[in-house]
Amino acid sequence: MTTTTAVTVRVPAKVNLQLAVGPAREDGYHDLVNVFHAVALFDEVTVTGARTRATGGPVELTAEDASGGGLASHVARVPLDSTNLAWRAAELLARETGAREPVRLHLRKAIPVAGGMAGGSADAAAALVACDAFWGTGLDRDGLLELAARLGSDVAFPLLGGTAVGTGRGEVLAPARCAARLHWAFALSEGGLPTPGVFAAYDRLRPDAREPQGDSALMAALAEGDAPAVGAALSNDLQPAALELRPVLAETLQAGRAAGALGAFVSGSGPTCAFLAASAEHAERVAAAVRTAPDCAYAVTAYGDVPGTTIL
Ligand code: ATP
Repeated sequence: MTTTTAVTVRVPAKVNLQLAVGPAREDGYHDLVNVFHAVALFDEVTVTGARTRATGGPVELTAEDASGGGLASHVARVPLDSTNLAWRAAELLARETGAREPVRLHLRKAIPVAGGMAGGSADAAAALVACDAFWGTGLDRDGLLELAARLGSDVAFPLLGGTAVGTGRGEVLAPARCAARLHWAFALSEGGLPTPGVFAAYDRLRPDAREPQGDSALMAALAEGDAPAVGAALSNDLQPAALELRPVLAETLQAGRAAGALGAFVSGSGPTCAFLAASAEHAERVAAAVRTAPDCAYAVTAYGDVPGTTIL
């Protein structure tokens, strides 16, 4: 019998500083070069024991808005069953290790849902770490990374955090140096944009897509801690597709540029828009400006980079 009664793991959201997308492969996936950057917008996943007979996975999942109300409608869309990525992570770990003790998972969400900030993947990474600690299954970092890659291409990065270059489907990670604290504002929309739909629009818009390449100017700017140069080098191949599906996002981007953002772009598959600012105060001013854009339901600021999953 375990003596642990609860384990809580904190996990950051990510923003993609570069997202270069290749042509669709035969298996439908796209090769990517993806520069992940973890920002101080955190979900928490708590695991507790349950007095139900053993199931080899969770018996219940609950979710709560930890944003102070701004994400209430987002959190209402989080699935509370075995389709939740955190649930699937716990189930996979139980299957792989033979852990049988039933658990409850509770998510406190401050990462937008379907916002292109990999909230579901973050919760899956946190659930892996929390259940591993709760069950005492003792996986090492490589063991956790291997299970993470099986759950989805964005699940490995939140285990590491920081800044990292992902290749393949995004799951092969090489840590990168970010020498300065970067200050961000994020504009969140009410509804989400489905990632598969954005990739389908990309395939239509870019029949000429080539193998994705890393951006040496971006990596040099990060290593030097040169925020204006980082701002100038930010790029997202999916942005035209996201803008085609939701043209009003152009107004959100323009509002941030008008407030002097060093860079303004759609985060991942959107619809969240990300803005690099010159300082924490400037990020607050950019957030105030983008809040007035018609599609912006909620704006937050956060700095990066930050470490990955942390047991509290
Ligand atoms: P990505 O950037 O990886 O494309 P995203 O940030 O756009 O992801 P998520 O917040 O991960 O999107 O949610 C995408 C969908 O996944 C949601 O609409 C929801 O139905 C489902 N989902 C599964 N598990 C979770 C979870 N733990 N939290 C939020 N959504 C989840």
